[in-house]
Amino acid sequence: AVVTRFAPSPTGYLHIGGARTALFNWLYARRMGGRMLLRIEDTDRERSTQGAIDAILDGMSWLGLDWDGDVVFQYARAGRHREVAESLLASGNAYRCYATPEELTQMRERARAEGKPLRYDGRWRDRDPSEAPAGIKPVIRLRAPSEGETVVDDAVQGRVTWQNRDLDDLVLLRSDGNPTYMLAVVVDDHDMGVTQVIRGDDHLTNAARQGQIFAALGWDMPAMAHIPLIHGADGAKLSKRHGALGVDAYRDLGYLPAALRNYLVRLGWSHGDQEVFSTEEMVAAFDLKAIGRSPARFDFAKLENLNGLYIRGSTDAALVEAIESILPAVGAARGLSAPLPAGLRTALTAAMPGLKERAKTLIELLDSAYYLYAPRPLALDDKARALLTEEARGRLAGIRPLLEALPEWSAASTEAAVRQFADASGLKLGQMAQPLRAALTGRTTSPPLFDVMAVLGRDESLARLDEAAK
Ligand code: GLU
Repeated sequence: AVVTRFAPSPTGYLHIGGARTALFNWLYARRMGGRMLLRIEDTDRERSTQGAIDAILDGMSWLGLDWDGDVVFQYARAGRHREVAESLLASGNAYRCYATPEELTQMRERARAEGKPLRYDGRWRDRDPSEAPAGIKPVIRLRAPSEGETVVDDAVQGRVTWQNRDLDDLVLLRSDGNPTYMLAVVVDDHDMGVTQVIRGDDHLTNAARQGQIFAALGWDMPAMAHIPLIHGADGAKLSKRHGALGVDAYRDLGYLPAALRNYLVRLGWSHGDQEVFSTEEMVAAFDLKAIGRSPARFDFAKLENLNGLYIRGSTDAALVEAIESILPAVGAARGLSAPLPAGLRTALTAAMPGLKERAKTLIELLDSAYYLYAPRPLALDDKARALLTEEARGRLAGIRPLLEALPEWSAASTEAAVRQFADASGLKLGQMAQPLRAALTGRTTSPPLFDVMAVLGRDESLARLDEAAK
């Protein structure tokens, strides 16, 4: 059965590229009826933090990407990695290297002078450890093949070939006894039974290195799929400026997880010209062959449009719930906290059909519902204030008794009253609707006015008219 894994290093938030890698691993495992495992690669003790681990786990749960079994922490397996390094030593596939820091510096400088990357020259490959200088703690290096080729048949990149003479003897175990990343990944992927690796193509060269370790151990290497990295709209590698934010930032910007998932699946993968996918459709259609070879471009406008689509497709109750879930992050600036007071929740739900037609994010939804939770006296924006001329205020005062006397308060009854008053006064509907909107919402644009009145209720509506008419 297929086993994939997502293997983030917990040195920062779960960024958008990592989230896409997680999604592809998840989809492929689900598609194949297999399992996706989660491995936290926390061997860099300086840079790994609990905060980053939490952010990764939270981000995945929010995106709806669940993993199978327990989370594997790489650092906890260092003993096993050491044991494998020792076994390679015993089988002659690795050796102790006593090169001093000065020697390595010399090699590095020589390589730099030739414009090449550091290449260890293999000076301890065949040397007897009895010649080891005193006081040097050795590293363990792989005795890599010096001739022939290392080939990776990659599901995305095709067949990639390296000349073994270009690959030096990499370090497996550092002098302090800690495994290198290269060794840890190989041992973990093997022990976890991983059959398919899906990761960023910045790891492609590592695949050659890892392939040599797999071969030395006599283990099968998992199948490989190296996906192109995500670039910004301008084609440059994705940076913060382009949207390389943590998944939590997208949540707080008001994106729905289903929309982000849909957006991410199309970053580098395609299925005909279909853009919108339910989760079931994604799972059914996902396939490594359809991952493109060129970098996907991150496009905020497309993400926003998809999000708008998902907002319009969500139930009113679900949207209110989604808004409440981000209030801890975005509520304070708006004087709101979760849970919302019951009255406001009801009003927000009732207003949702009008609000959700135009909003592209939950933040836009929340801000267009401002009139519902705005404290009195209502703060009017400049345009609204300009609309409320003396004459307009006079019209508001004129309609007030009619509204107050309505036997029943609804969108239909308030609309009938306003129309009747406009007709009787020789005014166009807009001449009434504009100042009403300004007085009731503090803005010159809003969801349909009579819906606003219905949602606000009679008492609140009249109180706002009174304030505006002053
Ligand atoms: N920990 C590595 C990273 O976050 C991924 C390693 C892998 O997938 O093999 O880039």
